[in-house]
Amino acid sequence: MTIDEIFNRLHKLQDVLAEKIALEKKIQSIPKVLEDRESLLVRLKKTYIEQYQDYEDLRTQQAGCRNQLLEAESKREKAEKNMEATTTQREYEIIDKEIRDASEKEHQCRKELQHVERRLAEIDEKVKANKTLIDEQEGELAEQKRNIEAERVEEEKKIAALTADANKLSEGLDEELLFKFERIIRKKGSRGIVAVRGGVCESCHMILPVQFANNVRRKEKIVSCPYCSSFLFYEDVSDGETSFLDEEIGSLASLDDDEEQDEEELDEEDTVNIDDEE
Ligand SMILES: [Zn+2]
Repeated sequence: MTIDEIFNRLHKLQDVLAEKIALEKKIQSIPKVLEDRESLLVRLKKTYIEQYQDYEDLRTQQAGCRNQLLEAESKREKAEKNMEATTTQREYEIIDKEIRDASEKEHQCRKELQHVERRLAEIDEKVKANKTLIDEQEGELAEQKRNIEAERVEEEKKIAALTADANKLSEGLDEELLFKFERIIRKKGSRGIVAVRGGVCESCHMILPVQFANNVRRKEKIVSCPYCSSFLFYEDVSDGETSFLDEEIGSLASLDDDEEQDEEELDEEDTVNIDDEE
């Protein structure tokens, strides 16, 4: 395979890989999307349970108030009946006090009952509103899950097709080169092979050492940018643009693009990885 053929393959391959990687990332991000929605639902349900507990407590209070009210009413009525049968001043005073106490109790119970019922109405509204919200959220979540599942099936089919394309394009290419290439695309999100124009790497925009840029132009082997690790191919600048190759901005020995760089080194775009090979 000539170097031009390799470049040609890499260009096609990077499009296929970029699309495949984007789809894989999309699928990976699905659980997070659903997680946020599910945790919202959990919060709503927790609030609902608390509100419902308050509602039940108030219902108990309401029943208690009603009982006390009935009790006070019957006490008062009974005393009023007894009053009809009083004969002495002493009896009258005792029963009169019973009636007044019972009336006072009745009044208090009515007031308390009113208060409890107002709170019940408020909380009832809140419980209902929350229930509506929960039902809506559950419905939307279920629909979202169905849509995501349908999309995922399609995306996985696409990924399988893209993988087949990538395998075909990779045939005959060096494995280590392919490994590095895919890693760069994963890291950058799109391009693994970029142009050197006017002595500048089009990915990281660093000015490359003249000798190094000349190596790219000579196309003797595949070389990686010493700053960003992108694979490089040479592109002529049009008239009017400055070529750094024409200027003497430094002279460096050849760069070792075979050396394995780890992820951290890939991060450091201003790191120059230069070995003397002479
Ligand atoms: Zn670069």
